[in-house]
Amino acid sequence: MSFVNAVKVPSYDQELVYAAVCRHFEALGVARDLSPDTRVLLKPNLLYGKKPEAGVTTNPAILKAVIRWLTERGFSNIVVAESSGGLFNAEYMRGVYSASGLRVPGIQEYLNRDFTYRSVPTREGFTVRSFNLITPVTGAGYIINLPKLKTHAMTTVSAGVKNLFGTIPGLQKPDMHRRYPNTRDFVRMLCELCETVRPNVTLLDAVDSMEGNGPGGGTVRHTGLTLTSRDVYALDVAAVRFMGLEPGEMPHLMAAREMGLWPERVELSGDEIAPCSPAFRLPDAVKSTGFDDAVPRFLRKPAELVMDRLLRSYPHVDRSKCVGCGRCAESCPQKIIRVENKKAGMPRRGCISCFCCQEMCPVHAISVKRGLRGL
Ligand code: SF4
Ligand code: SF4
Repeated sequence: MSFVNAVKVPSYDQELVYAAVCRHFEALGVARDLSPDTRVLLKPNLLYGKKPEAGVTTNPAILKAVIRWLTERGFSNIVVAESSGGLFNAEYMRGVYSASGLRVPGIQEYLNRDFTYRSVPTREGFTVRSFNLITPVTGAGYIINLPKLKTHAMTTVSAGVKNLFGTIPGLQKPDMHRRYPNTRDFVRMLCELCETVRPNVTLLDAVDSMEGNGPGGGTVRHTGLTLTSRDVYALDVAAVRFMGLEPGEMPHLMAAREMGLWPERVELSGDEIAPCSPAFRLPDAVKSTGFDDAVPRFLRKPAELVMDRLLRSYPHVDRSKCVGCGRCAESCPQKIIRVENKKAGMPRRGCISCFCCQEMCPVHAISVKRGLRGL
C-alpha cells in the first residue's frame, strides 16, 4: 500500500505553506531520513522563467517553506536544481531563477551553480541504457521532488513523474523527444528515468494549478491543495483523481502499470479531498477525438491508432502574436522550425507532435490544430 498525504492550502501565504510542509513531513517522517551531512536536492518545476502567478513554475513559497523546514532542523546542505527548457548554463539559468521569483533571501543562497552532467546507467531490461543527468542530481543523498500540477500537451498531465524530465540537461531534452517520438515510448522512458533518479519524497504544488493548454500556455485554476508521498506514482494517481480524470487513462501511469510500478492501493491521509468539478480542461492536443462513446471499449485502442495515423494534432503559429524569439526553434527536436523576418514557420512534414515548441513559447503564439498527416 502507498500513502499520499493531502493538506489544503488556501493561498501562497508563507506561514500557511510552511504549516502545510510541517504537516506533510511530519506525516512522512522525513526528519528520520536525514543527517546534517545529507546533501538534499530540491527539484522544482522551472519550465522556463515565468512569474509565479502564471502557474507555470513551482511557487517560490513552496521552496522557501521546504528550505526553512530543513534548515530549522539542522539540515542545511541543500541545493535547488533544475534544468529548464532551453540551455543549461549559468547565464540562462540566472534569467530563469530571476523571472521565476527565486532570487530572494531564503532561496537564492541554495540555487545550483554547477552546470555539468554525468552519465548514469539504468537497470537491466530498460529500453534506455543510461541517462545523462545534471550533476546536482547524481551528487544528492536525498531528493525532494517539487512538481507543479499542470495539464500537458503530450503526456496529458504533468505532476511527479513528468517533473523529473528536468533532470536531463538543457537541450538534451529535445533529443529525448526525437529518440522517443511517440507518446507510448516517451512515457515509458519517463518511468525509466523516474526509476533511475528515484526521488525520496514528492511534494506537489497544487495551490494554483494549470488546466487547458499546459504546461506553459494553459489557464491558472485555484485548487488550494498540496500532496506528498514517498511513492511518486501513487502521488500521480491521487493527483489525477483530484483533477477529475481517470488515472488508468494517463499515458505515463499506463506505462507504470505495464512496468509493475502501479501502486496496488493508494491510501489518502490528512485532509479530505474530492475530485474537482468540473474536471480539469484538457489541452487541445489531447482532447478526445469524439469517437470514444461510439466505439466499443475493446475496439478503442485500435481505433485510436488508426485515427492517429489519419488525423493528428500539429502546432500552428499565430503570426500576429509571434515575436520571433526563436525559443520554439531551439527546442524543436526535429529542427524543422525556421524563424524568418521575426516570424516562426512550422512545416507539418517531419513534425512528431511533441509540442515542445508550444511548451516553450513565451507569448502563447502556438496553438494546436488537427490535420491530415503530411499535409
Ligand atoms: S514543430 Fe513543434 S511539435 Fe513539431 S517536432 Fe518541432 S517542437 Fe515538436
Ligand atoms: S512562435 Fe513563440 S517561441 Fe516561436 S519564435 Fe514566435 S514567439 Fe518565439
